[in-house]
Amino acid sequence: TRPGVAPLVQLNDGREIPNLGLGTWLGFNKAGAPEPVVDDKVQHAVEAAIDAGYRHIDTAAIYETEEQVGIAIQNKIAEGVVAREDLFITSKLWNDRHAKKDVVPALKESLARLNLTYLDLYLIHWPIAQYENGTYYDTDYVETWKGMIDAQVLGLARSIGVSNFNRTQLDRLLTMTTVKPAVLQIEVNLNLQQPQMIKFCKEHGIAVVGYTPFGSLFHNRAAPNAPPPRTDNQTLLKISDKYHKTIAQVNLRYLIELGVIPIPKSVTPKRIGENIEVFDFQLTQRERDLMRAFDKNYRTIPVTMWEDSPYYPFHKK
Ligand code: NDP
Repeated sequence: TRPGVAPLVQLNDGREIPNLGLGTWLGFNKAGAPEPVVDDKVQHAVEAAIDAGYRHIDTAAIYETEEQVGIAIQNKIAEGVVAREDLFITSKLWNDRHAKKDVVPALKESLARLNLTYLDLYLIHWPIAQYENGTYYDTDYVETWKGMIDAQVLGLARSIGVSNFNRTQLDRLLTMTTVKPAVLQIEVNLNLQQPQMIKFCKEHGIAVVGYTPFGSLFHNRAAPNAPPPRTDNQTLLKISDKYHKTIAQVNLRYLIELGVIPIPKSVTPKRIGENIEVFDFQLTQRERDLMRAFDKNYRTIPVTMWEDSPYYPFHKK
């Protein structure tokens, strides 16, 4: 089987994660609702990604893309391109399964949809416990985390971690339970560079996976009020010319040099290939300083509709 393109990063549980992965969430449409999954473009994206040298795929129960990810994996294994153990597959527990006893059953449902016997990484998607009808229920994420530990003991998830937890919430897990999260998945992009969180995680040996790595870089995707830079930014254009790389690649390279594992999403084969070709150049300190100046602590995914939850992780607007 063929090796992957991204180097491996050591996790605190002895396992390794590729330094870049493919996102498989279709995102919100113009009306602000989740883009419905209507065809098999995610399956083709995952196949193109594995061919391009991706070995790390990010999905979640709520994305409704687990089946397509699973089909793509089976196809590439059948073709002899990769073996299961070459791949790093992440999925996430949704908010309506936060009771400790619900974690393993929810994980088994994800595995069935993915047609896999184990996940490389299972994450608590949000610290917020919420029924399917939108009302909150009072399950402390520390209880949920104990269910995650059960899943790891059973071998159903080789590594376990959390997503969208703030510093206080992470601290509570570290002091109240026996297993440290291997990974924290949070939004990281030029407008939201997360220096304090990255430093905290580094001190505790927790790897940071960065979602929505392009933030508001692309005009067609940026909210009208989102701060710059966009792809016409002169600083970014100069750096991109110097290395003969696209602005998307310079952006991803910068996040990697911050110590982050980005998971760019694309369903476009050309972009999928482009996004992983970021391990053959390096930015200078001066270029990193210029790019650090874009940090505005601006969140693309503030989930303000959940502000009333006692476990809402971000500063309220
Ligand atoms: P991204 O920052 O990855 O941006 C995706 C968008 O960028 C798509 O519109 C894509 O278009 C476009 N794009 C990708 N590559 C290029 C390129 N090289 N040039 C131009 N345009 C490009 O956003 P996401 O919000 O999807 O985040 C990535 C992943 O992170 C998600 O898919 C999901 O797996 C995860 N995530 C996790 C969250 C969590 O709560 N834990 C929250 C949000 C995301 P196209 O596909 O049409 O090519």
